[in-house]
Amino acid sequence: MLATTATANLVEVFSAIQGEGLNVGTRQIFIRFGRCDLRCWFCDSEHTWEIDEQCRIEQTPGKRDFQSYQNPVEETQLLSWIQQQHQSHLHDSISLTGGEPLLHAPFLQRFLPQLKQVTQLPIYLETGGHRPQQLSLILPYVNSIGMDMKLPSVSGEQRWQAHSDCLQRSWQAQKEIFVKLIVSDQTCWEDLEQARERIAQVSPNIPVILQPVTPVTGVTPPHAEQVLQWQAWMKQSLSMVRVIPQTHKLIGQL
Ligand code: SF4
Repeated sequence: MLATTATANLVEVFSAIQGEGLNVGTRQIFIRFGRCDLRCWFCDSEHTWEIDEQCRIEQTPGKRDFQSYQNPVEETQLLSWIQQQHQSHLHDSISLTGGEPLLHAPFLQRFLPQLKQVTQLPIYLETGGHRPQQLSLILPYVNSIGMDMKLPSVSGEQRWQAHSDCLQRSWQAQKEIFVKLIVSDQTCWEDLEQARERIAQVSPNIPVILQPVTPVTGVTPPHAEQVLQWQAWMKQSLSMVRVIPQTHKLIGQL
């Protein structure tokens, strides 16, 4: 029997311009969940890895006038914060991000139908794509998915089979899905080959974004010549391969 209320541990809720992937440039309400079970070398969200006692909630869309609240948060509370953000014509969709949102799948299973009813906005899931069972729990309530397929030479993580499984489930459910591949000067051909093959096996029409890594300590983006070569090679088997760096950092956005 379902409990009368559900809770989740959050990092933050805010309104921003999406800076990555196929939705780049759109305005979204971001719900950032706490915890991640991966440890990518290039991670710029290490503060999300563990659960914090508090989360911060933007009071006015885009103003960064955050107030702190205690974790965990009840679904009704989160719903009221989203309603506060949801101004007429402002947002294109709601982004579930992290951390890894799928670690909160049971909560999302309950929360997303209410969220859709209240806002009517499409739900976009950003995931590491390594938790297929949890993905299946919330697929009926999600409109689109950005799957971060981990290249071992760049991230230190190897999840090929789980990635294939997540792609298959999303495609079968007829969800809009794209794959993001973060590339650095360490990206090896074997990884790109694995990625290309696994995506094409599900469908050559799944869009792929090559995202040159934003430089952080010890991680360097690839040269433009490398990226041009990779894109040309991937396009031999996949119908859409775009190169898009993180744009929100270019405009100095949080
Ligand atoms: S999956 Fe995302 S949040 Fe988790 S370690 Fe990798 S980059 Fe960081």
